[in-house]
Amino acid sequence: MEEIFILNDDQRAVLETVARFVEDEVKPRAAALDAKEDPEKSFSWEIVEKAHALGIRTFTLAEKWGGLGADSLSTAMVIEELAKGDLGVSVIIAQTLKIAQIMQKALNAEQQDRVLPSFAKDPRGLLAIGITEPDNGSNYFLPYPTPFFTSAEKTAGGWIVNGMKHFISNGNRASHYLLFVQTAKGKPMAEGTTCFLLERGRPGFGIGRVHDKMGERLANNAELIFEDCFIPDENVVGEAGKGFGVLRSFFPQSNAYAAASILGVAVALYERAVFWATTRTQGGRPLIEHDGIRAQLAEMHMLIDASRCYIHRASWLADHQDRGWEETLGVLPKAMASQAAWKIATWCLEIHGGSGYMKELGVEKLVRDAAAFLHSDGVNRTLFLKAANLMFPA
Ligand SMILES: Cc1cc2nc3c(=O)[nH]c(=O)nc-3n(C[C@H](O)[C@H](O)[C@H](O)COP(=O)(O)OP(=O)(O)OC[C@H]3O[C@@H](n4cnc5c(N)ncnc54)[C@H](O)[C@@H]3O)c2cc1C
Repeated sequence: MEEIFILNDDQRAVLETVARFVEDEVKPRAAALDAKEDPEKSFSWEIVEKAHALGIRTFTLAEKWGGLGADSLSTAMVIEELAKGDLGVSVIIAQTLKIAQIMQKALNAEQQDRVLPSFAKDPRGLLAIGITEPDNGSNYFLPYPTPFFTSAEKTAGGWIVNGMKHFISNGNRASHYLLFVQTAKGKPMAEGTTCFLLERGRPGFGIGRVHDKMGERLANNAELIFEDCFIPDENVVGEAGKGFGVLRSFFPQSNAYAAASILGVAVALYERAVFWATTRTQGGRPLIEHDGIRAQLAEMHMLIDASRCYIHRASWLADHQDRGWEETLGVLPKAMASQAAWKIATWCLEIHGGSGYMKELGVEKLVRDAAAFLHSDGVNRTLFLKAANLMFPA
């Protein structure tokens, strides 16, 4: 398991490339894009295309499909590195990387041949997953035995889908989606859901509102609307009614990558806190020479280091499940990293005094970003409840 703790040469080289991309392409644009009033305008295709040119967009795609075939641990590292520059950019890419991993496992050979080569070539190819609905959020994490509102009726050669999903990351930008739909009336969602492969532009599928978010603004989140949308049988992923099997296989990477994204924000906040503590003088000496501040910086460092160890362990074990994987590793790392990031955000703000509250320093953006994963990828309280249910089954 030494792989978890020591970077190999390939990982070091990849992280250097990603760090340069973040310095050259993300950081110079992030503040201006974040400040746009219209949420759609906070998204940048230019950043996505530059990420494509470096192989970041297809990092998890196997070499035979034109990607780099990265493992989950290296992917978590890349996602953290991206988030040091901007959380939204990290999320755009993280969604795409994790869904590409799932597609390589869950799609059949015909579906893979149909989707993966064009996804690999398209510099704007992004992926999204549609599960959440206005009345079903925590319900599918636990899962609570209600059906999904978005449902499909069987017809000749396929399914007619009606309903809507909301909050979907990359929802208005993706070329392909994994969509979770109730196909068995009256059954709980865990038993009556089918996962469909959905292409952008299918008749009857439209984009609704693009959500105006508090932070993570460089990523777009949107509603997906279905009005008598025909999806053919050949787009069923796995078996009809077995969608939750696909969903469950998704949680290990999904949780670890969400954790890695928010960890990158925590690191950015910590670095700003150290810089400010070193340069700002009060009480006759730099803040960093005051014991209270020094101790708080050490605590931030500890929270970051411990969260990263947890994420790396979970990511590595996600790919080596016979070496000690247990299910809480697919639930709790995100809760830990997002709580750490939120604490670090409030401490960083405090260390900056009034200056942190002023927009020009950029700490305020990081504080807004730091709140994103208290809820995204499962509300932390819900995840603790889910972990407890796994640990102490009723
Ligand atoms: C930035 C962002 C990006 C997102 N991206 C996606 C995406 O790409 N795809 C997607 O499908 N979804 C996405 N989501 C949705 C996200 O997964 C949900 O918001 C999340 O699961 C919580 O659901 P909810 O918002 O409906 O909250 P609710 O489930 O309504 O929760 C509200 C509160 O009630 C608590 N609660 C709920 N049930 C219970 C219970 N049984 N017992 C005790 N307490 C409970 C929760 O812990 C929480 O505190 C995204 C959300 C955000 C904010």
